[in-house]
Amino acid sequence: MEKVAITVVGAGAVGLAVAFELSRSCQNIILLEKNDSFGQETSSRNSEVIHAGIYYPEGSLKARFCVQGRSLLYEFLDRYTLPYKRCGKYIMASEESEIRLLEILKKQAEKNGVTDLVFKSKNELEKALPGIKGVGALFSPSTGIFDTHKFMVKLESLIREKGVIVSYHSELISLKPDKDSYQVAVRDKNGETFEFSSRTVINCGGLYSDHIARMAGIDIDKAGYRLKYAKGEYFQFSGKYKGLFSSLLYPAISLESKSLGIHTVLDLQGKAKAGPNIHYVDNIDYEVDGSHREEFYLAVKRYLPGMKPEELAPDMAGIRPKLQGPGDDFRDFIIQEEKGKGLPALINLIGIESPGLTSCLAIAKYVRKLLD
Ligand SMILES: Cc1cc2nc3c(=O)[nH]c(=O)nc-3n(C[C@H](O)[C@H](O)[C@H](O)COP(=O)(O)OP(=O)(O)OC[C@H]3O[C@@H](n4cnc5c(N)ncnc54)[C@H](O)[C@@H]3O)c2cc1C
Repeated sequence: MEKVAITVVGAGAVGLAVAFELSRSCQNIILLEKNDSFGQETSSRNSEVIHAGIYYPEGSLKARFCVQGRSLLYEFLDRYTLPYKRCGKYIMASEESEIRLLEILKKQAEKNGVTDLVFKSKNELEKALPGIKGVGALFSPSTGIFDTHKFMVKLESLIREKGVIVSYHSELISLKPDKDSYQVAVRDKNGETFEFSSRTVINCGGLYSDHIARMAGIDIDKAGYRLKYAKGEYFQFSGKYKGLFSSLLYPAISLESKSLGIHTVLDLQGKAKAGPNIHYVDNIDYEVDGSHREEFYLAVKRYLPGMKPEELAPDMAGIRPKLQGPGDDFRDFIIQEEKGKGLPALINLIGIESPGLTSCLAIAKYVRKLLD
């Protein structure tokens, strides 16, 4: 049987970043992806925001990797002259009672090492964002947006240069521990299977990462690995709003909130959209439900009072691979070497929801340390 040193499963931003990091010091790596190309799932269905690291509990992997990953990502984008904008974001208080939430967010951010947030008064807001209504805001200058597709194109080309075998149409269907390695079975697009043995396996399977852990024999309920799917839809603003604002606008939320709230994101061309909302779903489908327009309209109207519902049109959706269900407490990323479960050199990455994109280069460094 053919032997490889490391198998990375999943060519989303995280799998690509992990393969990139490992390819700097290891040989004989294969990256398996069931789709016909990289980044066809959550990594291309998101807000493309480089988060500052404000909201997550101090010391959590989400807080640490977001702050560290943000710097690494800006460095990477500069190094390879990839497009991004450090556009900043305003967390808006629409009424006086929300100012208290901003103060709590600022304190939390400082605990996480995000020390550049500044309060903006109503007057300052009026000057900076004409036409936008708010009684105050917290401004995060280090928040940005980037072109995730170009980022992944670059990672893919860098890992190929380093000799990583990138295998598309290759779905992992079985993973069995076997002495000091794993037997890996893969199905190609013609339904044919091939097998090889791999000393190390790194599960970056996104929405399917819990199934992959189960393939290796892990009881995912006992381990707390079972994912729940939380869909997030976007509605785009009509062309009239293009260029109206140049920073992102987020609502003030409490730290217990399950998402960052419907916000206004921009792409690098200045087109604005609102989203994502959050609805738990049983299946993966990316349809946007037009009847959710009202939910978006009510959220946006708080800071854009002149907006009309018909100026919002269904756009796209993504699905968060969440460890917490509705009403559950905070759950952190799981990034775990499974020696304790009798599966050495299997690393599971589960629940890599937001800020997974911002964090991916930091996550990759952490994975490499787990292998040392
Ligand atoms: C609505 C929404 C908005 C978001 N906004 C942001 C944001 O603004 N900023 C931010 O930092 N993060 C954001 N995120 C989070 C971010 O998008 C994810 O954390 C990140 O994309 C996860 O990347 P990934 O590589 O782990 O997963 P994916 O991109 O899902 O990649 C996993 C890959 O594994 C492959 N795979 C699965 N099973 C198998 C198998 N058996 N065999 C072979 N291949 C397999 C899949 O096909 C897929 O390509 C958002 C997420 C959502 C849903």
